[in-house]
Amino acid sequence: MSVGGIVIGGESPIAIQSMTNTPSSDFDATLDQVRRLESAGCDIVRIAVPDVACAAVFDHIKRRGVKVPLVADVHFDYRIAVECAASGADKIRINPGNIGSRDRIKAVADACRAKGIPIRVGVNSGSLQKDILAKFGGVTPQALAESALENARELERVDFNDIVIAVKSSDVAAMIRANEIVAEACDYPIHIGVTEAGTPTRGVIKSAIGISSLLMCGVGDTVRVSLTADPVREVEAARAILEYSGAAPAPMIEIVSCPTCGRTCIDLIGVANEFEEKIAGYRPSRPIKVAVMGCAVNGPGEAREADVGLAGGKGKALIFKHGEPAYTVPAEKAVDALIEEVKNITGAG
Ligand code: SF4
Repeated sequence: MSVGGIVIGGESPIAIQSMTNTPSSDFDATLDQVRRLESAGCDIVRIAVPDVACAAVFDHIKRRGVKVPLVADVHFDYRIAVECAASGADKIRINPGNIGSRDRIKAVADACRAKGIPIRVGVNSGSLQKDILAKFGGVTPQALAESALENARELERVDFNDIVIAVKSSDVAAMIRANEIVAEACDYPIHIGVTEAGTPTRGVIKSAIGISSLLMCGVGDTVRVSLTADPVREVEAARAILEYSGAAPAPMIEIVSCPTCGRTCIDLIGVANEFEEKIAGYRPSRPIKVAVMGCAVNGPGEAREADVGLAGGKGKALIFKHGEPAYTVPAEKAVDALIEEVKNITGAG
């Protein structure tokens, strides 16, 4: 399956998704945010489309040369979905259960077929049909999975098979089990994520548990980390989760930093945060492990497995490579020196 040139499913890299949170009617603000997300490494950007007039946002963004694929998130009104397909959306996300009659679902499917774009059927705890809730006795993993599979069957009944399935829940264990059931029951690509995961502090943890558990079992083709935050944070978190799950789509920078202790000779928390912030947009040509350590006595040895690192000293920092001292720099130049070393080792990115 292709979403605007990004191949999803099979052996393709796991695609990172996020969603704009600018008012959809403010096309320029949405365009700016799409560009920020693309720069941060987002592979596919979803935009909520609350009414037919907002559907023109896709044409507006595409005309300005943006290449990242765009998904229309549509609820209730099938005419919005049809309009989004015409306006240049690369995928439509609907919940067939709230789109209405089969004729209306068929109208959306026909519009997508005409443009060669897929449909994502997305269900979550709040969108289960009454009969499914009654059958399974509430919002259970089985109920979530059955709802998603039934939504896919609705599209199959109108001869549409270019489908991505998403089953989300803010309950991590339920989300994991529901996706396992869906993966056992069908071959459609699956979009995974913990919905309404919360603020970054807890949301990243919930998302990491849910997403990585599934990825390490081979379930999931695209991911979204859903945070109450700037969506760029979602992309950064998703990249890290993919990296630590062994599913990174591109070479990554792994940062190890010590927890600090009584021997710490530098503002290590500030240094580590500054390094992470400054290196965020850099794309290395190969994986690299970078250490940020609090003292030169133990730091280089403790981070011997790192390709390069810095260790704090009094008013200065030691740059070391594979645990061996290389040279010292004034403390205020330590982060820039480390970034320079990373770029020298990994090439332009
Ligand atoms: Fe303490 Fe040094 Fe180890 Fe950091 S590297 S935890 S400062 S001993």
